[in-house]
Amino acid sequence: MSKQRLFELRELLKRYSYEYYTLDAPSISDSEYDMLFRELEELEKQYPEEYDPQSPTNRVGYEVLSEFKKVTHERPMMSLGDIFSYEELKDWLKKIENVYGKIDYCVEYKIDGLAMNLIYDGGELKMGVTRGNGIEGEDVTSNIKTIKSIPKRIPYDRHYEIRGEVYMPKASFEKCNRERSKEGLEPFANPRNAAAGSIRQLDANIAAKRGLDGFWYHVPGDINADTHSGSLRFAKKLGFKINDTYKILNDVDDIYKHIEATIALRDELPYEIDGMVIKVDRYDIQNELGYTSRIPKWAIAYKFPPQEVKTKVNDIFITVGRTGKCTPNARFDPVKIQGSTVSYATLHNEDFIKEKDIRINDTIVVRKAGDIIPEVVRVITDDRDGSQKPYTFPKVCPICASAIHRFKDEANYYCLNSDCPSKVTEGIAHFASREAMDIEGLGKKRVEQFYQAGILKSFEDIYRLKEKREEILKLDKFASKSYENLVEAIETSKRNDLSNLINGLGIRQVGTKASKILAAHFKTMDALMNAALSDLETIKDIGPITADEIYDFFRDPHNIKMIETFKECGLNMRSLKEEVKPSIFEGKTCVLTGSLDHYTRAEATQILESLGANVAGSVSKKTDYVIYGKDAGSKLEKAHQLVIKTITEEEFMEMIKNGN
Ligand code: NAD
Repeated sequence: MSKQRLFELRELLKRYSYEYYTLDAPSISDSEYDMLFRELEELEKQYPEEYDPQSPTNRVGYEVLSEFKKVTHERPMMSLGDIFSYEELKDWLKKIENVYGKIDYCVEYKIDGLAMNLIYDGGELKMGVTRGNGIEGEDVTSNIKTIKSIPKRIPYDRHYEIRGEVYMPKASFEKCNRERSKEGLEPFANPRNAAAGSIRQLDANIAAKRGLDGFWYHVPGDINADTHSGSLRFAKKLGFKINDTYKILNDVDDIYKHIEATIALRDELPYEIDGMVIKVDRYDIQNELGYTSRIPKWAIAYKFPPQEVKTKVNDIFITVGRTGKCTPNARFDPVKIQGSTVSYATLHNEDFIKEKDIRINDTIVVRKAGDIIPEVVRVITDDRDGSQKPYTFPKVCPICASAIHRFKDEANYYCLNSDCPSKVTEGIAHFASREAMDIEGLGKKRVEQFYQAGILKSFEDIYRLKEKREEILKLDKFASKSYENLVEAIETSKRNDLSNLINGLGIRQVGTKASKILAAHFKTMDALMNAALSDLETIKDIGPITADEIYDFFRDPHNIKMIETFKECGLNMRSLKEEVKPSIFEGKTCVLTGSLDHYTRAEATQILESLGANVAGSVSKKTDYVIYGKDAGSKLEKAHQLVIKTITEEEFMEMIKNGN
């Protein structure tokens, strides 16, 4: 185990969180993520001097990057610690029992959706806010109002905040994916991503059609009850949909039996759950146990193991991506895992197939680790009957028949033909995808259909589709309404930010993050195109290989011509984003003192750390700011003596509100 691995894991987990929370498109399974997270936690224990408030182990969710209005939560929305076995459950309970003896726990289903905060005032639903990074979420009120089971009015006049999970029932998920596939759109990977993707739609009509629902399980600082379960009963009386399956238990074996029984009936439930949450029921004990910067200490999530299923490999086939990468996949007898039917899984590359010795006709074990992408776990070699032959990787591209090539030190083969139909259509689908030009209605299937019809062969052709009305309407199942929607989405995409366009171009090594950095740095497409290699190399976070790729891309006459065509078509070529001011707390040492009215110490610490500050326990010459509440004593005095800037709680709240 090395420090190098620690830094690597931090970067890796940040990238996965971005894909999961911001793009709603995870590329690894939850259990893989959880294992990497654990590895990082272990390494951080080993190297305490590498403490970093920005590490994924100290943060919740991901930064809010969407178009929605940002809202600062009155109290942070936290994550949960997790455990995976009976032993870990026993240890967790023991620590609490050592102090409080045998006490009641409320054991609930862990709903697999996205956390939501509802705010009521004067009995009216005022706002629905996503968790975001725990401090700041997105205001998705208009979408939340389309969920029928959420009360728009409640018989309670005071300010009331209730948290829970918005989810997509399994039946709505299947229906939604059937419709998406009819419209030529990519299906959602799982109900969680579908729910998150639906709630974060700017057009509330879309969310309204997706059959979303919600369960409500937490009232922060509830004054109407002494226990968590009492608070659930009160919320139910107000009209909230509470998951009535919760049980009050006080013994580790009973809790574990309940967990096992739930795992057995999990498939029968009309919604997805990915674990159980065990919560100390009494509020006074909850308050004493308190929080870390990321999780409550009075609750824990018992995560379910990934489900594994046996099936038979019928075929191994290759897909060719936009970079020409040839990925082998196993097609197998369809099996149902965690609510959805799967019939193929990626085999990654030639080495993976060799390592696992996967052959056509083999019996394999597949799993959908907690959620998304199905993966092949192992081959059951005992089931072999002699009909299985080792797999030989093809020598030519299965799509265009040109030779494929495996470069030195690379695990993958590549098709090098730039006209390979698969590379072209995958590239166009990427250009139109949500994180690039975001053209709704131009998913992979539709791109392939247009390509085969000869009306879409390049990125530029997208902006000529409005001249192809007759040809398009002649295509199978193409309604004139879909055509109009598509043309409108294409027109809208012309106004996108420069970073979306850069991302869409598919320059090797340049993904969403690098595109944003380039747009923010150069401000215009012309400046980026004309940048010298030395300019590119000096940009923070753009490595020398990426700089080379960008430089070469804009020296290719074909690419220069493409950008010219985009300009003629009226695409925006400028950065539209305002400069993000760094927080005044970034890199500063802050001390909290006195009693704060609006935050606990842990909450205020979490806010400061999320803004890049280091929170210290005592005032010294190195302190930059002292934030103080009521009855502040010696620390405030010392701050005055050392002429350190002091900030009242009200000023602090104002600074957070203004994005400082
Ligand atoms: P989490 O999902 O492990 O648990 C916390 C969340 O559980 C809460 O925020 C709440 O939304 C939810 N929840 C559901 N039912 C609940 C109940 N009855 N009571 C209380 N809370 C309940 O934590 P997280 O911070 O939301 O996400 C981290 C997890 O997300 C990781 O452990 C991983 O599984 C997954 N993740 C996956 C990827 C990936 O690439 N696959 C990336 C990032 C995160």
